[in-house]
Amino acid sequence: MQYQPIKTITRTSHAITFGLVSAFMLISIYAPAADTSKIRVLREVKAEGPTGFYEQNRAPLLPVPFLKLPVANIVPGGWLRRQLELDANGISGRMQEISDFCQFDKTGWVHPEMDGWEEVSYWLRGYGNLAYVLKDSKLIEDARKWITAVMATQDADGYFGPARYKPKPEAKRFPDPWGHMPMLHALRSYYEYTKDEKALQCLVKYVKFLDTLPTSFFKSGWAGVRWADTMDTLYWLYNVTGEEWLLGLSAKIQQHSLNWVGKLCGYHNVNIAQGIRQPAEYWQQAKDPALLKMTEEHYQKVMTEFGQFPGGGFAGDEIIRSGYGDPRQGFETCGFVEFMTTFETMSKISGNPLWADRNEEIAFNSLPATLTPDHEGIHYVTPANVIELDRFTKIGDQFPNTFPLLAFKPGIHQYRCCPHNYGMAWPNYAAELWLATYDKGLCAMLYAASEVKAKVGDGTEVKLTETTDYPFQEMMELKLSTPKAVEFPLYLRVPRWCNNAALVINGKPVKVEAAPLSYVAINRLWTDGDRVAWTMPMHATVRTWAANKDSVSVDYGPLSFSLDLGERWEKDNVGNDPGTDAWPQWKVTATKPWNYGLAMDVQNPEIEVVRKSGPVASNPFTPETAPIELRVKAKKIPQWQADDENVITELQPSPVKSTEPLETIRLIPMGAARLRITAFPTIGNGPQANQWKAPSLVMGNLKVTASHCSAGDKLEAVFNGVRPVSSALGERMTWLDHKGTAEWLQCEFPEPRDVSRTMVYWFDDKDRGVCRLPQSWRLLYRANGEWKPVESRTTMPIFFWHKGDMFNEARFKPVRADALRIEVQLQKDYSGGIMKCKVE
Ligand SMILES: [Zn+2]
Repeated sequence: MQYQPIKTITRTSHAITFGLVSAFMLISIYAPAADTSKIRVLREVKAEGPTGFYEQNRAPLLPVPFLKLPVANIVPGGWLRRQLELDANGISGRMQEISDFCQFDKTGWVHPEMDGWEEVSYWLRGYGNLAYVLKDSKLIEDARKWITAVMATQDADGYFGPARYKPKPEAKRFPDPWGHMPMLHALRSYYEYTKDEKALQCLVKYVKFLDTLPTSFFKSGWAGVRWADTMDTLYWLYNVTGEEWLLGLSAKIQQHSLNWVGKLCGYHNVNIAQGIRQPAEYWQQAKDPALLKMTEEHYQKVMTEFGQFPGGGFAGDEIIRSGYGDPRQGFETCGFVEFMTTFETMSKISGNPLWADRNEEIAFNSLPATLTPDHEGIHYVTPANVIELDRFTKIGDQFPNTFPLLAFKPGIHQYRCCPHNYGMAWPNYAAELWLATYDKGLCAMLYAASEVKAKVGDGTEVKLTETTDYPFQEMMELKLSTPKAVEFPLYLRVPRWCNNAALVINGKPVKVEAAPLSYVAINRLWTDGDRVAWTMPMHATVRTWAANKDSVSVDYGPLSFSLDLGERWEKDNVGNDPGTDAWPQWKVTATKPWNYGLAMDVQNPEIEVVRKSGPVASNPFTPETAPIELRVKAKKIPQWQADDENVITELQPSPVKSTEPLETIRLIPMGAARLRITAFPTIGNGPQANQWKAPSLVMGNLKVTASHCSAGDKLEAVFNGVRPVSSALGERMTWLDHKGTAEWLQCEFPEPRDVSRTMVYWFDDKDRGVCRLPQSWRLLYRANGEWKPVESRTTMPIFFWHKGDMFNEARFKPVRADALRIEVQLQKDYSGGIMKCKVE
């Protein structure tokens, strides 16, 4: 591998200036604009009227600043095109080879008497857009075949798709309408691409059918918290047709769904990722600015507690759980792609450049690592810190799910939603690179090599060609083709990390004081062959994550970096939902040590930026092809070890003592690292430095008592630290033959101690006896002779899990206690018991 050091790094305060400076940047004195350009720097863009050539809101909806272009108007190039081609040759493009849900002859979406739910609609939504973005005639024809068949299932009343999900207006309970929501997007983009009136009519008839249903319908199932997904389509339909009843329907949905106004509607990661945009979407109709603000507030609330590590996602490895914010938690792939959709919606309607930054952070740093480099394998959860990807459940205390989440494979049954859903991410991203503006211009919202055609100014259709390897390069160049001179504004987004962006028009530097997080709008009379060069200087910077024990991560422009762990890939086609020779399951293990802390002064970090010579690889998201690497000084922390399920253990407070030798370690872009340490402890040897501690379990010498205990059970065995094989087999205590009662088990310590988490492994002998998992439980502690319930560490409640075959962990605000008590409510007509407890 030929990496060339660019420059020995000299220090600036918090950031290090990167050596590769474009020729344009070397000109330090800017010439005044020698032409007619009028430059404005805008913190946000507000539409001054319902204008523009494309998909603008009709009154009375608020006009939006940025308008989606027809999907065929944008042709992506460079690495982004390669990601789309990999999609086409991977899971999304070849779904019908691997998914029994997506069989044309066996799905209720084509044959309503059969079953069918979100899988086909998820997949078809991404597949159609992939076909249109790539202009791949074979995929386009196939998508048309599917969409036509779906439309053909429509009943006279407007319902289409699997009959078992058809709501009956007179019913008290309704089947979950969620499965239809992604299908509405599939129909909508099919219409946008083909202008096939039948698709438009199918959509109108279906939502008219929804309008006939009782209002309680809108709270049903997953859909109850996901109506944001369809609200967007209702507004689009209104903008296309002008039919006012559509706004009545959207108001009714807002009123009667779980609408995310004033509070988060639950803790599920995907619901949050897509649900939080509902208030901002409805703001377009209700016009209350508090609703727009609310989406940002929801985002902040979730990210402040659970998104305190790089990569743009949050610790949502199914639900967000109080106390689980370490970077070893992960974000579900569906969460990433739905979050990106939320950010794309918010970019268009809010006019705030922050949302596009958030989109880039996921796109460059997390999305590529949700997939194998060939896009033939996917996994459920992608953490920022992870040292092994295998087919085993990690139920010790990492994840709440009792199925494996980490091995790469098609995962049609084990991961189910993610492989069917992921495929929308890159096609949607490509379709949002360029947006039209309300003032009849164009905006480079997301930077990537591309061509865009659009009507601008007086209605002239122009073509812009964008040449760049961004984010692996600082500069992008635009070339304009136009049949005649035309005046229009060109908007360039300034990312949050970018100071001193430099603009050159037709070879002449143009002074622009572009603040981070703004748009630069260039108004001028553009002529054929005009060229714009736009440089966004990147720097290596260090972020400190105070909420995660003062750990640090290293960024370079929009890219975050991870330790290169070496990746050994082995086929591992066994276990549940195993892979095949053609579509393997992969185990990925590290070939290098991972337990490093960074030995740097975070105020004045020394970071060497090294760029690979030659052109950027077509797929830059692998350790071998990463175009940029960073080198930093580090020391090993020998006490930082994996747990007994080979899961990286949680961060401890920085700085950390280490007497190990100083080494130089290689960091690669996070998106290229499937194994990754991204949030590091720091090393320090002063009086403030901490010793890394092995987890200390409270064991032995405990006085254990219970409200009742079956004869022969040994209460003390509950605390001997031995891991049970399952909830049905092994030593335990039971409350037999008490049934349906409230019971307790308590342990008293020889002297008061600080405790902050407890794990309980429940006994459940299933069909062989009368012991079951409890209905509920809670935890009390005793201090100064008084019993009190433990409290959450955060504003989110503690989840007291009661699942079988795993330790059910509860984390709480540390307390000094001389005893802990587990209070249990047994299920009606059943008894229960405990196999093991751990207290830390
Ligand atoms: Zn999923």
